[in-house]
Amino acid sequence: MTSEAASVDVRTFDVSAVRADFPILETRIGDAPLVYLDSGATSQKPRVVLEAERSFLETANSAVHRGAHTLAAEATELFEDARAAVAGFVGADEQTLVWTAGATAALNLVAYAIGNATAGRGGQAASRFALQPGDEIVFTESDHHANLIPWQELAARTGAVTRAIPVHDDGTLDLEAAAAIIGERTRIVAFPHVSNVLGIVNPVAELVALAHGAGALAVLDACQSAPHLPLDLPALDVDFAAFSGHKMLGPYGVGGLYGRAELLDALPPFLTGGSMVTTVTLEKADFLPAPHKFEAGTQPVSQAVGLAAAVRYLDGLGMSEVHARERLLERRMRDGLRGIPGIRLLGDPSTGSGTGRVERVALAAFDVDGVHAHDVGQFLDARGVAVRVGHHCAQPLHRRFGITASVRASASVFTTENDIDVFLDAVSGVRRFFGVGA
Ligand code: PMP
Repeated sequence: MTSEAASVDVRTFDVSAVRADFPILETRIGDAPLVYLDSGATSQKPRVVLEAERSFLETANSAVHRGAHTLAAEATELFEDARAAVAGFVGADEQTLVWTAGATAALNLVAYAIGNATAGRGGQAASRFALQPGDEIVFTESDHHANLIPWQELAARTGAVTRAIPVHDDGTLDLEAAAAIIGERTRIVAFPHVSNVLGIVNPVAELVALAHGAGALAVLDACQSAPHLPLDLPALDVDFAAFSGHKMLGPYGVGGLYGRAELLDALPPFLTGGSMVTTVTLEKADFLPAPHKFEAGTQPVSQAVGLAAAVRYLDGLGMSEVHARERLLERRMRDGLRGIPGIRLLGDPSTGSGTGRVERVALAAFDVDGVHAHDVGQFLDARGVAVRVGHHCAQPLHRRFGITASVRASASVFTTENDIDVFLDAVSGVRRFFGVGA
């Protein structure tokens, strides 16, 4: 637990009041109350988020940054206020937050923009990003496909090569290997803040120090940390970071790319078209300054307003409180799973060597000996428990642990101790039901 989280009194966290804010939690699955443990895939949304989007559409809907009419001005103000709110939530200045469709879009934006710089676009200022054949892009064995494939594709377009930092048996990153891999040829180091399979909070400071020590860019996938931890991206000293609204109580189709101001200024755009330009002739176009030069075309305006409501809601709960409470749920979930025969947690201190106890969010993936993950998922669903099954877009990590699929349970601000207990009780009945255990 971080020292900040350790000092928080979680008894003041009123989970019943929080639950009352989420209409979907009234749902029943057959006879059973819904136990939603799939927030790692997408979180549920509180009423204030639904209302913010609805109210925008009912009272202010209009195209932003154009049009001289009253509604257009109002919509523009709400849209830019939303940018300031979401940027503030991650500790950033509003000029350093680019709206995207989500984390996947944000990571692709950076990778394609660097590819454009490599192709000579962006002039002298952008040449700092240009890759040479043989340059190295480093990611980790525990990355989501969204933080692997854009870099593989960038390497294929530029002649750069990719290298992966391995994970120990307990899921922690092998920092000795990282120090050996990151070197003179490294230009980009991309890594997850929190693994979407292991729940581990990775050591950002160490990885950023290694990246910057080699003169490389540090790119953080903050998709699974933004909903669970207090975030200050400038303080983490990362160069770029990506997150998704729908995983942090917000709407679908909106997310953010944070970039250090001077990097966003120098980086050429990825998508081009309307809204990101000053002067356009038949020969060429001049681009607006960041963040607008990265926001070609019509933006997800009502979704951005909804995401601002989500981060205000999270701020109201207090991210230190959210984090501290989820640590308790994490321990209950993992300790409970460790005690069930035939369950193997992926990347757990109990499952092998590594760094030992590290900070994790309330998310755990596991394998049930003798029962396919999809069967486990259906068995749990029949008892009202919603979990994710499959490879969770992390095939290399599953391969590392010798399996193709796992079951993942992940909590959010509305998860109760009782939710965890219902889940654990259901999991303890799986092997008997399928005739493979006592
Ligand atoms: N990174 C991580 C760690 C994720 O968990 C996810 C979503 N599962 C993504 C990236 C991609 O997010 P999105 O699908 O919202 O673009």
